[in-house]
Amino acid sequence: MVFRVFRPEAVSVWKNEEIFKRFSKYRGILDGKLLARYLVAKSVKCDFNLSDPVEKLESLLKEKSLEFNKLLNKDSNNLKNRVVQEINYITLAETIAIKYLQACMFCERQCKANRMSGEKGFCLISKDSYVSSAFLHMGEEPLLIPSGTIFFQGCNFGCVFCQNYDISQAWKGKKKIEDVAQKVNTLQLASITEKLVDKGAINVNYVGGDPIPNIHTIVGSLKFQKSNICQLWNSNFFLTDKSLSLIIDFMDFWLPDFKYGNNECGKKYSGIDNYFDVVARNHKRIHDEGSGEICIRHLVMPNHIECCTKPILDYVAKELPKAVMNIMGQYRPQYKAFNYEEINRSPTSEEMHEVKMYAQKLGIVFEPLS
Ligand code: SF4
Repeated sequence: MVFRVFRPEAVSVWKNEEIFKRFSKYRGILDGKLLARYLVAKSVKCDFNLSDPVEKLESLLKEKSLEFNKLLNKDSNNLKNRVVQEINYITLAETIAIKYLQACMFCERQCKANRMSGEKGFCLISKDSYVSSAFLHMGEEPLLIPSGTIFFQGCNFGCVFCQNYDISQAWKGKKKIEDVAQKVNTLQLASITEKLVDKGAINVNYVGGDPIPNIHTIVGSLKFQKSNICQLWNSNFFLTDKSLSLIIDFMDFWLPDFKYGNNECGKKYSGIDNYFDVVARNHKRIHDEGSGEICIRHLVMPNHIECCTKPILDYVAKELPKAVMNIMGQYRPQYKAFNYEEINRSPTSEEMHEVKMYAQKLGIVFEPLS
């Protein structure tokens, strides 16, 4: 048992029974009663060859996922005594990730770039990962701070209103990536996470840009991480189903965006095909098959209540009943948003009121985190 003093802003949120129930596993890790999932995964032995075809490894991954999930249901004290295996479930996922890099399909853009040989797809990240900054973030939701946040350079989206455009978009074609971020391998990334833990982080928060182009480095770093700390995926969530399989069992907490309630707005403002179909599918999967501990961030956009916000709230109420939402009103036109009249302002207080009334009527839990 770890005696942890929570920050004042978190204390009142933890007193909310619904939050405590919905995030009980995250709280169990914070209190030292439960093991982070990646530590359990290291005890799942795998037997394979690097030269095995990817289809064979994918089928082994499915088997190991079942074995891992059976283990998780066991008494947590038994889990603490399990031995780390040299070749384990994490090694297997990393091996598959590296194979996927030869024709990249980490996200649904499916560029098929051979990143292993130096080609780049839309995100402009080759096989190497780059961290633009890593620090204790105090601006996340109260339950998550201080959050050991690692910002990866590069993004698979092209949002016209991007609020992190310096690390996701603006450098493209203008600067060398080496000039704006630090190259990291799996060992160096693990070392960054451990330093954040030493400074007082209560979770490791992978964000960007977006973490998706860096799945191979993040999964690989888990081999070297040692702390019993919550692993948190903070992303636009436009992964392929196959790449979600590489991380679904290792993440304890999910912090996905849910931006658009239809495919058309995703195409118009982020240059993405099939936005809603893909992101809704992935939310459903982490809700039903992953840890299920999810805080969905929805940034309310002006003039997009009927086409985006309400369909998202309807979907969450119907399909993701265990999720908690952070309904955010801080949208400001940034980057290229000034070119789109309908989103060239903040949402009004009337729009925010309408959204919150609608969410309340649907029974969505959002107030403690919004
Ligand atoms: S991660 Fe990058 S290279 Fe890979 S499919 Fe997505 S945008 Fe393309």
